[in-house]
Amino acid sequence: MTNVLWLQGGACSGNTMSFLNAEEPSAVDLVTDFGINVLWHPSLGLELGDAVTEMMRDCVSGKIPLDIFVFEGSVIRAPHGTGRFNMFCGRPMQDWVAELAAQATIVVAIGDCACWGGIPAADPNPSDSVGLQYLKRAHGGFLGSGFKSKLGLPVVNIPGCPAHPDWITQILVALASGRAGDIALDDLQRPATFFKTFTQTGCTRVQYFEYKQSTTEFGQGTRKGCLFYEFGCRGPVTHSPCNRILWNRQSSKTRAGMPCTGCTEPEFPFFDLRPGTVFKTQKISGSVPKEVPTGTDHVTYMAHAAAARIAAPQWSKEDMFVV
Ligand code: SF4
Ligand code: SF4
Repeated sequence: MTNVLWLQGGACSGNTMSFLNAEEPSAVDLVTDFGINVLWHPSLGLELGDAVTEMMRDCVSGKIPLDIFVFEGSVIRAPHGTGRFNMFCGRPMQDWVAELAAQATIVVAIGDCACWGGIPAADPNPSDSVGLQYLKRAHGGFLGSGFKSKLGLPVVNIPGCPAHPDWITQILVALASGRAGDIALDDLQRPATFFKTFTQTGCTRVQYFEYKQSTTEFGQGTRKGCLFYEFGCRGPVTHSPCNRILWNRQSSKTRAGMPCTGCTEPEFPFFDLRPGTVFKTQKISGSVPKEVPTGTDHVTYMAHAAAARIAAPQWSKEDMFVV
């Protein structure tokens, strides 16, 4: 039996909603087939009031072994570092987080807000929000860069806004079944099995990307063109398996005509959502993308783009999905 305690800080509950939609395995499978005992969860826990406080105290004291501590949402430190904007069981949530993280065998951050601060930490960050071990790309966060759980692991980050349900349940199963050592983490402490490839990997628009053919109209479904050139798609610079492990087992943002907004990267929400930066490719001199695909540079990109446009066959300018 693996005890899991799941708490929420500065959160919208989106990752909980995602978790409850998991299919491979489902949230129920975790309990019935994989020996996970959910000590408490804000939406699923049966205990109320003083009973929750007592259970929390028992986890902090070690009376109840805390195997996996899951945190969703940002750690709120306002006002003035007290954390009193986010009270839970009679004290600031940040105090519970510090003590529970110190007792836990493994600590898992679910969703952008818990990983990097996310939307609550966007400028001007009135709640003084921070992620468990990062604030955007800066290592440290609430627990500090040297933090290691009792198993000797840093916080395991499963980012996303929200994280895909199966990323959550598959990692929880691996951790609960003693395979933590098999989970390779990337340099942002994300499981590499999910975050090594790009959102673009498997996108149905890749042939348009290759020949630099742009979508001309927002929301063209699966029809035509690539969303990188005008609509701010971050697929070539974002690490996620969204076009390999599909959402609802059938689609993804880019397949449905919606640009990837890069929600698995620490800078999300990019440009702190300033007007004119969302769903719009940021350009130099009105034509060259400010950010080019990871692994290339502007000179190489421009040379490749010019050649690709010249070489573009007629079919790459047409709708490939005729109904
Ligand atoms: S729509 Fe986005 S993910 Fe798909 S090919 Fe274009 S840039 Fe890549
Ligand atoms: S497609 Fe991009 S924005 Fe959408 S969930 Fe995947 S990584 Fe996040």
